[in-house]
Amino acid sequence: MSRKVFRKLASIEEALETLERHFNPHPIGSENTSLERAAGRVLAEHIAAPINIPPFDRAAVDGYAVRAEDTYGADEGRPRTLKVVGKVAAGDEPKFELASGEAVEISTGAPIPIGANAVVMFEHTWRENAHVNISKVSTPGENIIAAGSDIPVGERILRRGTLLTYRETAILAALGITHVPCFIKPKVAVLSTGDELKKPGEKLDYGQIYDVNSRMICDAVTSCGCEPIFMGLAKDDFAELTQKVSSSLKLCDVVVVSGGTSAGSEDLLYRVTENLGSLGVLVHGIAVKPGKPTMIGVVAGKPVFGLPGYPTSAMITFKILVQPTLRRMAGLKVEVESKTVDARIGEKIYSVAGCREYVPVSLTLAETGGYVAYPVLGGSGIITSISKADGIVEVPESVVILERGETVRVQLFSSELRPANLVIAGSYCVGVDLILDLMLESMPELNPRVINVGFSGGLVALSRGEADIAGVNIFNPDAEEYNLHCLKRYGLAGKIMLVRGYFRTQGLLLRKGNPKSVKSLEDLLDGKVSMINREPGSGARLILDHLLQRLANSKRLDLKEVTSKIIGYSIVAKSDIAVAMAVMRGTADVGLATETTANLYGLDFIPLAKESYDFAILKGRLTKPAVKLFVDTLGSEWFKSELPQKYPGLTPTEETGKMILTA
Ligand code: AMP
Ligand code: MG
Repeated sequence: MSRKVFRKLASIEEALETLERHFNPHPIGSENTSLERAAGRVLAEHIAAPINIPPFDRAAVDGYAVRAEDTYGADEGRPRTLKVVGKVAAGDEPKFELASGEAVEISTGAPIPIGANAVVMFEHTWRENAHVNISKVSTPGENIIAAGSDIPVGERILRRGTLLTYRETAILAALGITHVPCFIKPKVAVLSTGDELKKPGEKLDYGQIYDVNSRMICDAVTSCGCEPIFMGLAKDDFAELTQKVSSSLKLCDVVVVSGGTSAGSEDLLYRVTENLGSLGVLVHGIAVKPGKPTMIGVVAGKPVFGLPGYPTSAMITFKILVQPTLRRMAGLKVEVESKTVDARIGEKIYSVAGCREYVPVSLTLAETGGYVAYPVLGGSGIITSISKADGIVEVPESVVILERGETVRVQLFSSELRPANLVIAGSYCVGVDLILDLMLESMPELNPRVINVGFSGGLVALSRGEADIAGVNIFNPDAEEYNLHCLKRYGLAGKIMLVRGYFRTQGLLLRKGNPKSVKSLEDLLDGKVSMINREPGSGARLILDHLLQRLANSKRLDLKEVTSKIIGYSIVAKSDIAVAMAVMRGTADVGLATETTANLYGLDFIPLAKESYDFAILKGRLTKPAVKLFVDTLGSEWFKSELPQKYPGLTPTEETGKMILTA
């Protein structure tokens, strides 16, 4: 059968068309729903108003109900005097009829007595015993809300397909309606596959990760007006997955599985779906990045979606493929207006020809006005692209490069956009989080964005004006100093103020108890311990090489001769955390990282050197309130006393918070 040959990847449109040829998404019925349970449901029928709102003519203000004609000619100097014949409060039923020359005291919301056709506000009256003086002319109908003027009986007030929120339930309550026909919520089975998955709350063993997708997909299903049913985790096992998918098909109207769709996992879900019977798999692989390993099938008349395991990919493919089907089945309109903003691209984006690409971006406000969109890098495997992105940019199949400065439309993840008012780039340090915590105490509107791109990435961000502040730890071995000499290299001459941060102790990480009895750097040369290094160019590596050079000099050796004696010198990790993990697991005996990291992971530590972690700040931003507060907080006694207490290994100096150089 031709539909089971998957030579080429389907476009999104082809994939959806193929599905719709074999499965027509429509509501499965309706049920009478009580108003208390109606929020979040979708109306299955139009609703007409059964009563007038308001149901009677009503006073809009506190005052006197009168015949407008009785007030003609009245002014401050020549008030009209009327006889007060009674009083009506909200909820009263006036039993009398107003005659000419008479008035009735009335409160807001009370029914207008027969005979009256206007209400005079208290402000334009004064009372004398049984009479009231009126100092202003009224017109007929003034300050009266006529019956049915808000909603007349019979008006089509809510339409079929409306998602009921508190606004709609309020209208229904005003109309006295207690039950409404709602579409039956389609039941959607949600299943995660992967041997490595654990439920949040369970203990992770090595190699395991928490299941992200079930939570995300269940809540996304809810937002489509459907009822998610979590079917649990399935191992990468044909029999288990078959059993779970087939019980999902019995219980639910749609099945959404994540993981196990790619070639690497032997197309497990694909084979399971084919094996479960007609029709089987309809689409296998779509031309979307991220999201290529996506599967759509129909079994026993119900759609089975297989989304890629990577959370970002799963989120995007859910939105473009699953959401339209679910919304229709829930009785909602298909199109969801996602909120968009236009932004200029902050960093060139490369895309694959013939593939529709969805690039997560974070938005910042440009100094010149408007938004700038930066791609949140890290690929589809990184949860950061969900947590740090404000939205996504769709790059069409025909576009290969989006140039910096080009205007694009960004689809926002949420309807609220709060662009960052402080952007800190550069190498990451926990001390920065402490500064931000303290700043929040006096600046609740602070919305910082911390972009961890290493010191050189931070300086590039500054040179482009994309960040306000960059954390720097650049060692200059020739001058044996930090940060002062490096700024010119990044085209930042004249633009930067360097503010002194604090010291960070770099050293050797060892397993608890130091089983190999390492005492100094020199012990690494005796061939008995193995190490894990950091990559060349990193702050820690520059220090290590500097110290090794000294050691070499003292032994009258070349640096090369020394490093060749160290087992694992050329094995590098990309981050402090990766170093700590390697030491913890025993992949290496010794690692190069900060004392803070050693403490965080409960490892032993031998200090080697103190590096100066400083802040390069764009001069033009020093007057910006958040930047000013950052510098003040850094220099505060509060920060200086909290820092070493919270993070041993981070030590403030006399100069912390001082502007030490303008470069
Ligand atoms: P797969 O599609 O099964 O090949 O998975 C691709 C990647 O996504 C692997 O790194 C999985 O560990 C990861 N992954 C799969 N399912 C989940 C899930 N439910 N939550 C978080 N990560 C997942
Ligand atoms: Mg898997």
